[in-house]
Amino acid sequence: MIGSTINTAICRQQRHRHTQQTAMHGSGLHLLPLAALLASAAAAFSYRGVLQKELNHQQVKTGTAVGGQSGISFTEYHRYDEVSSGNGANSSAPVILVDAGIHAREWIAPAAALYVIQQLVENATQSALADSIDWHVIPVLNPDGYEYTFTTERLWRKTRSPTSGECVGVDANRNFDFHWMEVGASDDPCSTTYAGAEVFSEPETRALRDYILANADRIKLYLTFHSYGPLILYPWGYTTEPPEDWETLDALGRLANAAQVAAGAPNYTVGTFAGAMYAAAGTSADWAKAVGGVALSYTLELPEGGDAGFDPPASDIVGIVTPFFEAVRAFGQYVADNFGRSRLSA
Ligand SMILES: [Zn+2]
Repeated sequence: MIGSTINTAICRQQRHRHTQQTAMHGSGLHLLPLAALLASAAAAFSYRGVLQKELNHQQVKTGTAVGGQSGISFTEYHRYDEVSSGNGANSSAPVILVDAGIHAREWIAPAAALYVIQQLVENATQSALADSIDWHVIPVLNPDGYEYTFTTERLWRKTRSPTSGECVGVDANRNFDFHWMEVGASDDPCSTTYAGAEVFSEPETRALRDYILANADRIKLYLTFHSYGPLILYPWGYTTEPPEDWETLDALGRLANAAQVAAGAPNYTVGTFAGAMYAAAGTSADWAKAVGGVALSYTLELPEGGDAGFDPPASDIVGIVTPFFEAVRAFGQYVADNFGRSRLSA
């Protein structure tokens, strides 16, 4: 509807701590992405690109003055970002679900998610992507862990939940209920790949589960951003046996890769999670395809950088995410062509 807004706020640390705590308890602060998820809110509280014709009426607002026309700086990493849309509850357009930051230390992933939002909202050339698709973007799925990488341990990967042992945190990307704990996951709470005491032990994974199930009829594509690769991975993670529709998944992955390579991205390896990277069970991408019903499910591993691979300097963000968006655009175009409906002819 005309006059809809997407508000973006970049929170300072103190506020972040408050919002994070609130989110963990699922209160009604619906402007916060994780709170919205945890409340299993309807699409009204999700994040979406909106009709191009509406974009002229939108304002992107920010609580800080970090530069750039939108107020969003893409040359630095952020502790936390909140993005909300006040409409969308009644939309029937196909959905592309994007999440980032399930692994705390992979800072380039939330940065890429924010860039996707910025392009969809502010760049007039993306109208085809916004016309017939709703984009639901979760920039930071694991805010506790993300915060911890800023305050305490740069290379922390897991959540920050207490465990039965002396160690803290669960690898949320081993916590989903599909071939859980079969391979590439640990039952040791001190391991970086600790799968949790049980499936869906983490509020973050439960939130994503509930969200996908609630929108299963509309979500046509799931992209989960990680680092580092560069890799474009499709299921399965739990086995090197490819899914029945692997040729479709592979072709689309290669299409997206070609688009970003043409824009200057490095060549990402395209293949199954287990085949092209390593075997791991209980991932969100496997679960989304097998249980959540999202046939097109991809794990996108952005390029390495910095000393540890997970820490490309902030000065490299724009150079990484700009060509990467062309892959996202190609994914979006595929969904628009195959599942979208033209708003212009409606
Ligand atoms: Zn990861």
